[in-house]
Amino acid sequence: MLFLNHALVVAGLIGRALSAVEWSSEQWDAIIVGAGPAGIIVASRLAEAGLKTLLLEGGGVSYGVTGGDLNARRPNWLDGTNLTRVDVPGLYSSIFGDGRHLICQGVVNAYGGCTIGGSSAINAGLFFEPPASDWDLYFPEGWKSKDMDAAIQRLYASQPSTNLTSQNGVRYLQSGYDAARKWLVDGLGYKDVDINAQADDKTKVFGHPIYDYSNGQRGGPVTTYLQTALQHEKFHLESSTQVLRVEREGNLATGVIAMVNGSETFVALTPTGRVIASGGALQSPGLLMHSGIGDPATLTSLQAAGKLSRNLTSNDWINSTSIGAGLFDNPNTFIELQGPTVEAYSYSYDNPLASDKALYMDSRSGPYATAGQTSVFWTTITHDDNSITGLQGTIGPAGYADFTTNNTITLNIYGTSGLLSAGRVVLDNNFIPGASGDVYYSNARDAHDISTFIYDIFQALPAAGLTPMNIPQTATREQIETYITTWSSYARGEVNHWSSSCRIGACVDTDTRVVGMSNLHVVDASIVAPLTVNPQFGVMAAAEKASERILGLMGLSVAGVSSSAEVNV
Ligand SMILES: Cc1cc2nc3c(=O)[nH]c(=O)nc-3n(C[C@H](O)[C@H](O)[C@H](O)COP(=O)(O)OP(=O)(O)OC[C@H]3O[C@@H](n4cnc5c(N)ncnc54)[C@H](O)[C@@H]3O)c2cc1C
Repeated sequence: MLFLNHALVVAGLIGRALSAVEWSSEQWDAIIVGAGPAGIIVASRLAEAGLKTLLLEGGGVSYGVTGGDLNARRPNWLDGTNLTRVDVPGLYSSIFGDGRHLICQGVVNAYGGCTIGGSSAINAGLFFEPPASDWDLYFPEGWKSKDMDAAIQRLYASQPSTNLTSQNGVRYLQSGYDAARKWLVDGLGYKDVDINAQADDKTKVFGHPIYDYSNGQRGGPVTTYLQTALQHEKFHLESSTQVLRVEREGNLATGVIAMVNGSETFVALTPTGRVIASGGALQSPGLLMHSGIGDPATLTSLQAAGKLSRNLTSNDWINSTSIGAGLFDNPNTFIELQGPTVEAYSYSYDNPLASDKALYMDSRSGPYATAGQTSVFWTTITHDDNSITGLQGTIGPAGYADFTTNNTITLNIYGTSGLLSAGRVVLDNNFIPGASGDVYYSNARDAHDISTFIYDIFQALPAAGLTPMNIPQTATREQIETYITTWSSYARGEVNHWSSSCRIGACVDTDTRVVGMSNLHVVDASIVAPLTVNPQFGVMAAAEKASERILGLMGLSVAGVSSSAEVNV
């Protein structure tokens, strides 16, 4: 029974196949660029409302349910199943080593998923509801927590999640959890909470991570919203199709230019249609720039290189330095923790332990039913001006880099919401988008806050029998600050939680419409302010909200929501 639904959906995908000539010569009510979590949700909601909806994805197949040659995308031990490496949570870390076709190549200067599902097809699947205070403090009117409630409820109703991934009900890899609990709960008085049930409490809390998995397999929007969308007659997904730019006449988008069978091809909107850029926080600002919307200096270079539409003159440019501004990623530090009771666990792509393989294959149980993070915790620092900095720790199953003994695990420390550092999306000499150099620690307060957090929690490590291996337990706060801000294998690495590069109120309006345009939207991590938690839940909730706002502009509503409810603040 486990796979019945998958088999049906593969059939559905094949059933909806249209030739390139067919789909690219039709007119669409909505063209969504990018099948990451946000793009999938918006496309699904728009199709459900009856709009003729085209979802274009530059990457190719990912989960087994997306079809294609499954054997090319999995280790031998999964032969005979409907699974690829994407579906098995325990193969998550193997994608870092060799992500092949799943990883973005030549389109963005950062690590990420360019495939059906975007980074949700390659991420750990941690699924944390942001506290209400994130919406209330960092989002504009119309996007406060009270405005987000219905969107979040729709997300919960559509996307299952769990903190117990193994289908036999047993928690595996718990030695790291037990040591961390002793350290933080017993030693430092952190509360042991059910993370999403108590989402608003992010001060001194600890618990089991929540994952967006189902049935011991990777879940996420490809397995939920996308499958619903594929049931709609007027929905079409086309993968392996990169969009180069949006075509427009003045402030009206008329369609997109996509690479179809190796040629730049115009795909048209209906006269009342809309383009939604959902390419992620690095690629969506890049797409806008290629569409003549952005910093004039960048547009001048793009035009000189022949990258802008020939239909655009400089009089048509929409000059906005808000495109790509405010780019955020969590500054992170890996801390290797060793302890006598800790038992590290290493996942294997080709050769899992026979017993663990059997557990997974027989009952979707055991260590391979999780990406491996065993525990998570947060706290906050409140400043004299009442501004708040969020801080997070996530504990993985094994050591890293120079510290990989059998009793070492890795703690990943992030700064989260309320940080003051931000960079911007910049194009390189080949006009590929990436991050500027000032994303992390460009404001000194952030390093002070994060080093204070590490210093404070370090004080209770000895009592829990844990020893930090790459930073001395007795380090001063100042020494920790120097460590975390100096590049090494453990510090300043990109976490790839990119967000906030097209903020609501500056780059897009509260209907997610690009400022200066009438029918071009951005809906993805770009419009989400830095959150207290890992971004995917917030990105998906924002996409639910954006669907409501976009449909509201068209006099339509999300199924089950009356249109008066979303006419607008
Ligand atoms: C390794 C890794 C681990 C992570 N772990 C977690 C986690 O456990 N929990 C969590 O909350 N978050 C995690 N994240 C972050 C999370 O995955 C992202 O925040 C989320 O996927 C962003 O969604 P998005 O819709 O904005 O864009 P993306 O996921 O980036 O998807 C964008 C999609 O659009 C496509 N695209 C872009 N431009 C174009 C174009 N011009 N034409 C056609 N297609 C285009 C891309 O190919 C891509 O598939 C992780 C990220 C990474 C990289």
